[in-house]
Amino acid sequence: KEFAEVSIKDIDQVAKSSFPLCMRHLFEKLREDHHLKHGGRMQLGLFLKGVGLKLDDALAFWKAEFSQKVGAERFDKEYAYSIRHNYGREGKRTDYTPYSCQKIISSTPGVGDHHGCPYRHFSEENLRAALSRMGVNSGAMENVMDKVRNRHYQLACTLTFESIHGSSYDAGINHPNQYFSDSQKFFKS
Ligand code: SF4
Repeated sequence: KEFAEVSIKDIDQVAKSSFPLCMRHLFEKLREDHHLKHGGRMQLGLFLKGVGLKLDDALAFWKAEFSQKVGAERFDKEYAYSIRHNYGREGKRTDYTPYSCQKIISSTPGVGDHHGCPYRHFSEENLRAALSRMGVNSGAMENVMDKVRNRHYQLACTLTFESIHGSSYDAGINHPNQYFSDSQKFFKS
């Protein structure tokens, strides 16, 4: 892959510039709470693998956060396995692929979960606040909300991409890793 390999030292910066809202939300919650429930760990973990975070970096990244909440020992015992598992180093050694928008949109996050697609799963108020933090201007905001009301969540995400990057995006978003790599291409070109 052309833009593979994100390292830990770049991760906060690229999260801000190039993560779609679903992943940005998980990333911020992880930094804030030093914890994510299973659905969030899977959704963000596989996405990070897809953006090129190596297994050793992934372990260090999750450990740095979870240790602050559950302690390093418990992290090693209870959580490290599933991260290695996502990278195909445990169990059946399947190489798990990052989730598509369709899969994320059709998930059913419960109380205390932060996975899912914010365009579908956030309240209108929370979605507006999150979008304005991302830098979506008020004109674009109304267009995004209009797509959301019509349940065109991926189009809402595409309009967000266009607003933030100041550029049209004809391909349309259908995968969070596509959002990421096209955003990186945009900033690096
Ligand atoms: Fe994430 Fe896809 Fe929803 Fe965008 S449309 S926030 S990339 S799940």
